Amino acid sequence: MDKMIDRFCAALRIPTWWPAGALRGDSEAEAPLRRFQDFLTERYPCFHQRAERWVLSPYSTIYRWPGRAAASAAGGTEASGVEGPVLILAHYDVVPVEKEKWRVDPFGAEQKDGYIYGRGALDMKSILIAIMEAAETLCAGGFNPRHDIWFAFGGDEERAGIQGARETAKWFARRGQRFAWILDEGTPVGENQIKGVDSPLALFSIEEKGFLSLELTVPQKPGHASRPPKVQAVAVLSRALCKIAKKPFPYKLVPTVENFFAQLASLSGGVQGFAMRHARALGGVFFKAVSGNPDIASLLHTTAAMTQLEGSAADNVMPSEVKAVINLRLLHPWTVEKAVGFIKKAIGDERVNVRVHGLGTDPVPANPEHARRAGPGWKEMEAALKAVYPGVPSLVFLMMAATDSRHYQAFADGIFRFSPHRLTPGEMGLIHGHDERISVENLQRGFEFYSHLLGAL
Ligand SMILES: [Zn+2]
Repeated sequence: MDKMIDRFCAALRIPTWWPAGALRGDSEAEAPLRRFQDFLTERYPCFHQRAERWVLSPYSTIYRWPGRAAASAAGGTEASGVEGPVLILAHYDVVPVEKEKWRVDPFGAEQKDGYIYGRGALDMKSILIAIMEAAETLCAGGFNPRHDIWFAFGGDEERAGIQGARETAKWFARRGQRFAWILDEGTPVGENQIKGVDSPLALFSIEEKGFLSLELTVPQKPGHASRPPKVQAVAVLSRALCKIAKKPFPYKLVPTVENFFAQLASLSGGVQGFAMRHARALGGVFFKAVSGNPDIASLLHTTAAMTQLEGSAADNVMPSEVKAVINLRLLHPWTVEKAVGFIKKAIGDERVNVRVHGLGTDPVPANPEHARRAGPGWKEMEAALKAVYPGVPSLVFLMMAATDSRHYQAFADGIFRFSPHRLTPGEMGLIHGHDERISVENLQRGFEFYSHLLGAL
């Protein structure tokens, strides 16, 4: 355990954040990413002896841990239930820090009161290191997986995975690679995650919302604020935003959420339990009742969050353009294209230009078998959970945040997004926040989870 902590601390000390404005190929910005890739090779020798490794760029590291089934065609898949190679995802980049707001050095890996501090402690070097520690221990003990286990680690997940996961996915496509299932970071085991249920729940996100930012602009003739035009760009844009607010995306109960509610209903009593159990039958009544609760409402429709607003640079200058950004999280079956059409129609004003800002991605629907808590990977996932968290129920869930796994959806019939840490709501808030830290206990749990999971493959 002490050695694992040492290696984890060494991983935290590599400052793998991306400086604002740096471009791909900037050797100074890429140096920590390369250092992290080398760090894995140096610290996990047994695994590196057994596995094949491809480094596509500072943003992409791929491993294939060969399975016995690859050597002999008679793999005996029935016995284990595993139906083929699996893919485990992680990323080694972290988000930048506001150093002055931290009580400790964000890249110092300081230990106190049972916690290890550092950017990436939760998101997600702890998981990547737990995966490597588990693989190294299993390799050192002579374990050979039944089927190939692949790892794909990205170096730009926090910037949409364009150079990392997306390129890795193209590489897999060229090889014609398929996986039985995929596991990525995701929702943790937590208490008080849902109002009314205080016992811990393990949320396995089997479906992911799409991500789309839209830029709304209205041009205007610039000039002195003493002579404003009769119709002002800010007023036109404000009217458009009000129209969007008045026309939310329609509510819909997708099977993943319906099953989540049904499972939750059996754990929470009272009115909430009743309403969740009968959500489909209650329909509009239910939707109306929960529309004021963002935790629940966001599971039921595509959300549109107004995040940025920009006018001129001075109080006495008419802007040449006003701009707003809205960030949408698309619920299946809404696609980027359909959502853009919906927003344009809601605005209904040609003076407002609407364009996609950055990379928009469609939602990743669930494998219907997974929504019923069956299908490839469930058995292994539940067994690993039970070994670390006996008695904690596993629930299917909908991932609201975007993960690298969206780039890999074509390669498997199901993706799990799960983090094997038990986090309090306060600890959840440390992700991307100040004083990010993980308890030594959680580090150990992560190691145990991956040891059980990989050991069962
Ligand atoms: Zn992450």
